[in-house]
Amino acid sequence: MVKNVVIVGGGTSGWMTAAYLRAAFGDRIAVTLVESKNIATIGVGEATFSTIRHFFDYLGLNEREWMPPCHATYKLAIRFENWRAPGHHFYHPFERLRVVDGFPLTDWWLHARPGGSFDRDCFVISWLCEAQRSPRYLSGDLFEQDFTENPDERAYRTTLAEQNTQFPYAYHFDAALLASYLTRYGTERGVRHVLDDVVDVRLDERGWIDNVLTKEHGELTGDLFIDCTGFRGMLLNKALSVPFISYQDNLPNDRAVALRVPADMAERGIRPCTTATAQDAGWIWTIPLYGRVGTGYVYAGDYCTPDEAERTLREFVGPAADGLDANHIRMRIGRSERSWVNNCVAIGLSSGFVEPLESTGLFFIQNAVEQLVKHFPGEHWDDRLRESYNRQVGNAMDGVREFLSLHYHAAARSDNDYWKDAATRPIPDGLAERLELWQARLPDNETVFPHYHGFESYSYTAMLLGLGGVPLQAPPALRHFDRGRADRELRLVREQAETLVAKLPSQYEYFARLNGDA
Ligand code: FAD
Repeated sequence: MVKNVVIVGGGTSGWMTAAYLRAAFGDRIAVTLVESKNIATIGVGEATFSTIRHFFDYLGLNEREWMPPCHATYKLAIRFENWRAPGHHFYHPFERLRVVDGFPLTDWWLHARPGGSFDRDCFVISWLCEAQRSPRYLSGDLFEQDFTENPDERAYRTTLAEQNTQFPYAYHFDAALLASYLTRYGTERGVRHVLDDVVDVRLDERGWIDNVLTKEHGELTGDLFIDCTGFRGMLLNKALSVPFISYQDNLPNDRAVALRVPADMAERGIRPCTTATAQDAGWIWTIPLYGRVGTGYVYAGDYCTPDEAERTLREFVGPAADGLDANHIRMRIGRSERSWVNNCVAIGLSSGFVEPLESTGLFFIQNAVEQLVKHFPGEHWDDRLRESYNRQVGNAMDGVREFLSLHYHAAARSDNDYWKDAATRPIPDGLAERLELWQARLPDNETVFPHYHGFESYSYTAMLLGLGGVPLQAPPALRHFDRGRADRELRLVREQAETLVAKLPSQYEYFARLNGDA
């Protein structure tokens, strides 16, 4: 019976895994986590994806409890700036498209071309981002209740295309504070915490991990070993020699430089979105926390030196960057060929990573740990479970690779070699074929990457319409329809958005209250 789990690594992946396993199995599975005092965590990873809420729910953590100590804020969307042309921006929101007569609202928008911006015409969330609103009232109620209360009044016929609503937000938080919060959560629930360096990984005669040797605590034995050692991949890639599949041909950004910038949020306000601003050799992220902004330049080393990148980032931030230390990071882009081999599972950066453009690092961890629980062994190791796990987590990362490749391929910007090359760089095979089709017909869930990877067709549609580099057309069938209901729905989006902007508090006001500062 697999009863003892040893996790090596105490970054976000190590502590998310430890906390989740204890929440799932309680005392039935013993968890030991060993982390080095000498090897720092990556220290970034502060914007998340809307599924993250399920992770906190699973742990039984309530937002009012964990958000203030982690300086957390809400994230409703990603705001893409300058990807199409200087001065242009659009939102990729956590909001599914409304459907009118079986066609998503963006199809109707493209058909009618009412002018304006597709994101503000089709999504309420874009308006909340522009106006820096909180998705919750000061009472704690969520804004969505406003327009789901009277479904009978909605002005369209429904079809199978509608599904349960997408949760409308994710979080921004301080990675170090979240790691401390989860450390406390885990250790209070019985995770054994060892602060030490692992200096050797010992294999038995079958090539399975028998124990890991630490500098001061001797051997740590277990049944299942989880490699959360980050880009090092100390257990899976090094000790078990599992090959790494690079995504670099499709996604060339392999470096980043980051700054933690203190900020007066009362003066600046808190945008409820991550901003991704295109630059000459990549893009800069801006993540507003409560009291600080996390920012960093993700770039391709083939087009820009670390010094140039740091200079660009400092100029972008302005005087607030003076005197702050920059954190330079090399990124390993791709995934391990298999994340679970014998009795070793890699989770986090050791398993795989694509650049953080859609904030999927922590999503991969959440997906992996949920899958691990579903595939957890009982009395015997079962190859079928391992293979199923590997297929699922591999597909999730391959799907995100495709989605991110689309961001570069479809961006209209072409003002230098980096952006010209972005349009012609190889894209994953499946994507080339899908793009052909999407030019005739916007994506739907039947025509996007066919395995679960967190993104639904509306995300692909938002990116294609926002990036502007791929010609698109409305379904010709719409010429045979009456546009009345679609026009009413487009008006409804605007009316609901204006009402919400008027009624909701600003995100700063909401968090000042929650943090006891107002
Ligand atoms: P690490 O943080 O590197 O932790 C590794 C751990 O292993 C450390 O505790 C270290 O001490 C320990 N360790 C290593 N070797 C040994 C040893 N020999 N003995 C003992 N312990 C050892 N994700 C998002 O979801 N959103 C984002 O916005 C985002 N932005 C990112 C930006 C950048 C530039 C990068 C590179 C990543 C970003 N990510 C993001 C990904 C995210 O940061 C990671 O997925 C997350 O932090 C998990 O990292 P980790 O725990 O796997 O590795």
